[in-house]
Amino acid sequence: VEPPLLLDVSDLHVSYGKINAVTGVSLQVRQGQIVTVVGPNGAGKTTLMSAIMGVLPSSGRIAVSDGAGACRDEGPGIASRVCSGIGLVPETRALFSSMSIEDNLRLGAFRFRKEPKARHADALDEVFTLFPRLKERRQQEASTLSGGERQMLALGRALMGRPRLLMLDEPSLGLAPLIVREIFRILTRLREQGVSILLVEQNALAALKIADYAYVLELGQVAMEGPAEAVAADPRVVQAYLGSQ
Ligand code: ATP
Repeated sequence: VEPPLLLDVSDLHVSYGKINAVTGVSLQVRQGQIVTVVGPNGAGKTTLMSAIMGVLPSSGRIAVSDGAGACRDEGPGIASRVCSGIGLVPETRALFSSMSIEDNLRLGAFRFRKEPKARHADALDEVFTLFPRLKERRQQEASTLSGGERQMLALGRALMGRPRLLMLDEPSLGLAPLIVREIFRILTRLREQGVSILLVEQNALAALKIADYAYVLELGQVAMEGPAEAVAADPRVVQAYLGSQ
């Protein structure tokens, strides 16, 4: 039996003025899965993520299954996405650079601001357990972090919002192979803890290795989809994305 659907996107269209960046994409994420979207530069991967997060207007259907205890904020905007338990780690990381690591993390729990302080401390402890490096540097200004540490902080901040669906846009971008491995190891650990993940990557090899299901996006459309193992073994994918890696 397949796990229940968490995110169900159908026939999504997103344009920037006359430029149609995403044209008729349908995509699903089931509970406890890592789903990856791979594809070349300009395929529309970031646009797709932004539309799902409600940052960009789109047409089509984006349905997020109702989680127990989810807050009520209907509508197409970002607030309703955060409410339904979607957390985004953007490609730019978007940290508050003049604030400390700890304060960046605390901001990630904004949607729980009315909860008791102890709850926040627990969430912070969990993030520090995953990322001991952040704990050592908790009072350090975010601007002084290395690329790998910045990615860890962006991921930690998203986790402070206790997402049911974690979306990551190119987490490996600009990072050394060792750090990429560390981040991907943490993603598989999060899956074990029940977090579902939508992972956008240009590093197709690494993403297909950990994913359950994969979509290949080309020119704003799904060119291929299937279980990650099958997609990784497809000769067209090997030639276009895996050959040189
Ligand atoms: P990359 O891997 O390089 O980040 P991507 O797959 O994420 O690429 P997008 O960034 O979503 O692709 O871009 C998809 C298309 O939309 C591209 O043709 C791009 O030039 C265009 N595009 C993206 N952002 C804008 C914008 N703000 N205004 C106009 N066109 C845009």
